[in-house]
Amino acid sequence: MTLHLPFDNSYARLPDRFYTRQGAVPVRAPRLIAWNAGLADELGITGGDEAARARIFSGNEVPEGAAPLAQVYAGHQFGGFSPQLGDGRALLLGEVVDGAGHRRDIQLKGSGPTPYSRMGDGRAWLGPVLREYVMSEAMHGLGIPTTRALAAVATGEPVWREAGALPGAVLTRVAASHIRVGTFQYFAARRDLDGLRALCDHAIARHYPHVTGPAGLLEAVIDRQAQLVAKWLAVGFIHGVMNTDNTAVSGETIDYGPCAFMDSYHPVTVFSSIDAQGRYAYDNQANVIVWNMAQLATALVPLMPDGEAAVEEFTALVHAMPERIEAARQQAFAAKIGIAEAGPEEAALVDDLLARMAEGRADFTNTFRALSNGGARDQFLDPAAFDAWEAGWRARLARERDPQAVMRAANPAIIPRNHRMEQMIEAAVAGDFAPFERLLDVLAHPFDDQPEAEDLRRPPAPSEEVRATFCGT
Ligand code: AMP
Ligand code: MG
Repeated sequence: MTLHLPFDNSYARLPDRFYTRQGAVPVRAPRLIAWNAGLADELGITGGDEAARARIFSGNEVPEGAAPLAQVYAGHQFGGFSPQLGDGRALLLGEVVDGAGHRRDIQLKGSGPTPYSRMGDGRAWLGPVLREYVMSEAMHGLGIPTTRALAAVATGEPVWREAGALPGAVLTRVAASHIRVGTFQYFAARRDLDGLRALCDHAIARHYPHVTGPAGLLEAVIDRQAQLVAKWLAVGFIHGVMNTDNTAVSGETIDYGPCAFMDSYHPVTVFSSIDAQGRYAYDNQANVIVWNMAQLATALVPLMPDGEAAVEEFTALVHAMPERIEAARQQAFAAKIGIAEAGPEEAALVDDLLARMAEGRADFTNTFRALSNGGARDQFLDPAAFDAWEAGWRARLARERDPQAVMRAANPAIIPRNHRMEQMIEAAVAGDFAPFERLLDVLAHPFDDQPEAEDLRRPPAPSEEVRATFCGT
């Protein structure tokens, strides 16, 4: 039986100027290296053997019902505005409606040049493809809204990067949509009000059918993004490139480039090699998402009948966002210390612990996880710093009904640690995909103890430490 995807392509029905219709550039020797069978089932994908999957998800064969296109968008990259970006190495094959009735994009990433490639080659190499595969699936396992990974295919062709020739690959990404803040900015910057309105209507119908108009959309996106960033902070996740073109209006985490999870806690942690100013540092992510929402607000103002009133209304929405993020963050961190309802007293307790963790170089994930079993003090350079905090915490915990259960649901045992990701990529480049498969298996259940995965819970030894991550374009 041939491979079948139940396509229904609503983006392709939008006006021509939203995209360029474009096929993938065929690759020499496509070979399937990963297939997410559970997700494929969820999406109603049926039939097809391994060879068919390799052909379709490398771009060598266009599946029936697909309408491949490269989406155009704009975006602020590190604060500077580019009026035209777009899918420079990606193609939207189309959309399918999943078993739960949710419409999902099927996108190839690394599928060859498009009119938006600028100086790029349109390709991706194996390292970032596997990195995004594992990272996005790990985020899903953690219960954090994210794009998913459906397939990875090796192309059998080299990709040239600074390091020389590297094995090429194509990732198939699944997303609620690929509509970005930068998509709105594209039409706003061109003063294309009809386009902007069509995009707004499309985004509302797709993601927020309960709201009306640009103001409703803005408020809904702000709410989703506030929740999302609080969830990132609660697991020590650093996105690394929160440009407006990498901020999805769906509220899903998107574009896993130089992202990373923190090992030892420090609020100003930065990994991305290109983020010299620390714009996208761990504890600046709340500020940046507010800034990005201000850009979305600016892009939406022209759709409002009364511009001045809209500016006032939208400004109020954006200004209220930090408080929303902080409330969500406090709630998430209260749970991490076993407290079901956050208030000022609880927030102070959390902040005191975090300050001690920063000072004591405590491992973020392991410290919180060990709160349940008495091992937390061992995570600190000076365990006495933890002991001084513990007494007040225990006194407060006495008022909780089931703090153990609250903590176990909030504190993962396992996260994709950087050094393990690097080791996994190194092994895969050498032809060994066992570490990749193992990470996927283990990270599907991050809240389980999994004693056999003890090695994946350990922070890096000094020789294993990864100090910088790369966009890997
Ligand atoms: P990113 O930083 O990965 O979100 O990419 C920013 C922009 O650069 C997007 O418009 C991408 O499509 C484009 N881009 C990144 N890498 C490549 C590449 N290898 N070839 C062509 N375009 C690329
Ligand atoms: Mg991007």
